[in-house]
Amino acid sequence: MAAVATGAQIIAEALQAQNVGFMFGVVGVPVIEVAMAAQAIGIKYVGMRNEQAACYAASAIGYLTGRPAVCLVVSGPGLIHALGGMANANMNCWPVLVVGGSSDRNQETMGAFQEFPQVEACRLYSKFSARPSSLEAIPSVIERAVRCSTYGRPGACYVDIPGDMVTATVDRASVRSASELVVPCCPTPPVTLADPKAVAEAVAVLKASGQPLVIVGKGAAYSRAEEEVRDLVELCGLPFLPTPMGKGVLPDDHPQCVAAARSRALLQADVVVLLGARLNWMLHFGLPPRFNPRVKVIQVDLCPEELGNNVKPAVALLGDIRSVVCQLLGCFREDTWRFQSDNEWWKSLKEKMNANERVCQRLSACQALAARSSLPMNYYTVFHHISELLPHDCIIVSEGANTMDIGRTMLLNRLPRHRLDAGTFGTMGVGLGFAIAAAVLQIGQKSRQRVVCVEGDSAFGFSGMEVETMCRYKLPVIIIVVNNNGIYGGVDSQTWSELDSMGDLTTIAPPVTLLPDAHYDQVMAAFGGQSFLVRTPQELRKALQSSLDDWERPSLLNVLIDPTSDRKQQEFPWLTRSNL
Ligand code: ADP
Ligand code: MG
Repeated sequence: MAAVATGAQIIAEALQAQNVGFMFGVVGVPVIEVAMAAQAIGIKYVGMRNEQAACYAASAIGYLTGRPAVCLVVSGPGLIHALGGMANANMNCWPVLVVGGSSDRNQETMGAFQEFPQVEACRLYSKFSARPSSLEAIPSVIERAVRCSTYGRPGACYVDIPGDMVTATVDRASVRSASELVVPCCPTPPVTLADPKAVAEAVAVLKASGQPLVIVGKGAAYSRAEEEVRDLVELCGLPFLPTPMGKGVLPDDHPQCVAAARSRALLQADVVVLLGARLNWMLHFGLPPRFNPRVKVIQVDLCPEELGNNVKPAVALLGDIRSVVCQLLGCFREDTWRFQSDNEWWKSLKEKMNANERVCQRLSACQALAARSSLPMNYYTVFHHISELLPHDCIIVSEGANTMDIGRTMLLNRLPRHRLDAGTFGTMGVGLGFAIAAAVLQIGQKSRQRVVCVEGDSAFGFSGMEVETMCRYKLPVIIIVVNNNGIYGGVDSQTWSELDSMGDLTTIAPPVTLLPDAHYDQVMAAFGGQSFLVRTPQELRKALQSSLDDWERPSLLNVLIDPTSDRKQQEFPWLTRSNL
């Protein structure tokens, strides 16, 4: 190893020392050398088409592996595009490390090329935002950023690198001596246990419950608590409900999953064990009318500030979910108490689940049978056929309004961390970046899992050019665009022509409309992936099967559906635009 190194090399080596394995970015002045130096020492570099998507991809790696990936961006606009990804990661509590080039130090405040107060701008979107004061300080700042992104509640961190630092050189010996006091590689976060007294209280509250419910959130997925949560739910005989990305921590088809009776379970539970989910909008704040006003919440979270948000918990268990669930399990293993499967609560939930499942089956089965006479297809028909063909271990990425809402109930997850969606921030445009991250993790794996990206047509548009990225790296992602010509829903092509003949479209076209029957499939065809225009269930099945058979390149199925297709009638009016 040469005695002298460039700033780019010091950055790359510092990242490698912190076990950072992936970098997603859009290069340009002044960070090309950083990407090249990272690649040269074995960090995988994925060049994306927009920094926002790059940041989404990097944050998905953080969620899926527990170790942050880097989003590498250029100065000014490059960094500003990445802010959306940082905000999304922070909202989701996912670790990510953004490294941004910035204008040279000797030109600051002079109106330099792409000059922008980057460190300050990132403060609002990150847990830590800093610029190393010298080349020697780079390893310690990067260690701190990686640590900060994963310790406590995970989130985004930012490290700013002025262009002149990238190319400057330094003696490795002086970097080494400056780094002597720094932890060489920040370890995985130390695990915290809940106060044993609080654990005992939680056990007592649960044992006194007549209508308990476990809610499994994406914090449980992130903490890799699947085995422990399964043991607790099964040992105690408790009904559980996953949040959207909590799906798969326990399989959706687990007999104790009461997702099909979600509304009743939330409304009537007297004790809720909340495992890594916030009582925010996604869980209707834990309040009436969706929740029982007297519900006792046993809240498990590693973030102390979260405890008590919106609902005062009956018991607050501060700690890592996996360890805290172990503590609970320890108590219940020494106890004979079990929640009996023949009691009234289980009967009531099962009765509701059977009724709801019958309605769903009727809907999809009838529509599948009547397929030929009822074209264009609707959401239920589309998801019915997709769900029949998808392998059980596939990773489902999903975004869109109806596409995501209906898809969530009809596409089952059987494995933890196998669902990625618009998340806590409700961000549209995340799908392709997430899918790229999930597919990059599959490279070189012995048994590869399929990544399927189910997108609304509007959602697809936000980051649509990332299909080129998928084609370039030969990532066998299957994108299914459920195309209803608009945001929530558009109009058919005949209506569109009529509107067009009536005058200036900018004055009369409904704001929700997108071009009817747009050929999104041709975007994929342009870069050499498989592409399909799909109108019937038969075409859908054939196209999906052919995509599943191809591991060499991505596919896009452009599924034209009825632009007026909507959700099935909801029993409660407040569910009509619900996202859970
Ligand atoms: P969901 O979208 O599934 O409702 P949220 O993102 O709202 O999930 O909530 C996840 C919660 O999990 C956050 O409050 C976060 O602090 C917490 N969390 C994340 N990792 C862990 C962990 N290892 N142990 C305990 N809590 C965690
Ligand atoms: Mg749409």
